[in-house]
Amino acid sequence: MSAPSRPEVVVDLAAVRRNVRTLRARVAPSAMMTVVKADGYGHGMVEVARAARAAGADWLGVATPAEALALRAAGDTGRVLCWLTMPGEDLAALVAAGVDVTAYSPADVDLVVAAAQAADVPARLQLKIDTGLHRGGALAEDWPALVRAALVGEAAGALRVTGIWSHLAASEDSAHPANDAQEAAFVEALAHAEEAGLRPEVRHLANSAAALLRPSAHFDLVRCGIATYGIDPAPDVAEGDVPGGRPDLVPAMTVRAPLVLTKRLQPGDGVSYGHTWVADRPTTVGLVPLGYGDGVPRHAAAGVGSPDAAEVWVDGRRRPVRGRVCMDQLVVDLDGDEPEAGAEVELFGTGERGAPTALDWARACGTIDYEIVTRLRGRALRRHVGVEPGPDEPGPDEPAGDERTGTHDGGHA
Ligand SMILES: *Cc1c(COP(=O)(O)O)cnc(C)c1O
Repeated sequence: MSAPSRPEVVVDLAAVRRNVRTLRARVAPSAMMTVVKADGYGHGMVEVARAARAAGADWLGVATPAEALALRAAGDTGRVLCWLTMPGEDLAALVAAGVDVTAYSPADVDLVVAAAQAADVPARLQLKIDTGLHRGGALAEDWPALVRAALVGEAAGALRVTGIWSHLAASEDSAHPANDAQEAAFVEALAHAEEAGLRPEVRHLANSAAALLRPSAHFDLVRCGIATYGIDPAPDVAEGDVPGGRPDLVPAMTVRAPLVLTKRLQPGDGVSYGHTWVADRPTTVGLVPLGYGDGVPRHAAAGVGSPDAAEVWVDGRRRPVRGRVCMDQLVVDLDGDEPEAGAEVELFGTGERGAPTALDWARACGTIDYEIVTRLRGRALRRHVGVEPGPDEPGPDEPAGDERTGTHDGGHA
């Protein structure tokens, strides 16, 4: 790629397709739900959804009704699950659109029944059991009442229970005792629902980390979000503890900008607001036209999110952020080098050649890489590359083959 003429977030859809194929092959015969909530974790929901479908995603997962309806408006006709509705929300449009909705309580089931009556078609309803995350879902003690309400709705022809699911609290930590406990609670809830007469099409528990670390949690379907985008969901787990080894995922997002200028500083010169960083030697610094208004965390400065500053890649080297990140710009230490104005600055990307990754930024900022990629939704131009599958790419129904030997520079050519 030639140097960018303005800040941009480049999303490689060839990488997304490749990651979906890799993950799908890893969890087969369980089906794949690609989670595209929050604008596809900042990668563009509709574009990622298309890429995921092209690579064989059986389901798409979103949080809100608006997200689900946006997928339908964009022409997606496949299975979509939505799991975060508001109290009293009108769900008729979702039911009419054939979106699977989730109930956490009998009151939710009532809303779904009303929506089915309004839409004049039976709703596709999934029930969520809270197995220990203590976020959404019915507690075990409230589960029988939720199952009963759903059975009443089924008997009335207002709905069909298509799925039963739960969500893990500590799946990125294979040794955490919550994993076994939640899986056992899930199996118990399933047994109760089946004894009561429910026959769900899909039972699902695993997110990306559990898809890789916990085959016993795969059930009929896994819900992969972060791994789809090429980010390791469990970076702290040792290679030997990943069954089948770490899959070769390719980060899909690269954030880049042109260097606006370089300048020389003398010892004692402070940089950016508050002069929180002062040069202790003659050096050069460069101006990067991205800031927190673009979604770059202000915590990237040294001593805010972590003792170390985040680094960017300029002229073949990592260069630390110096001083505070501003709304529109940040300054990096070029250590005496004077790359020309317009030179490429990469904040993070695939990590090739040792350039920083979203994980490096997350560690410097005291957060997780999920947040780093998802928040890059400000002014920077988002550009999708690798939009069309290449001539050698497997189709959705072909085996993934050995992805490890495939190229992944798709649209970067
Ligand atoms: C966001 C989300 C996922 C995806 O999690 P990842 O860790 O990104 O794979 C799966 N299930 C639910 C309920 C979610 O909210």
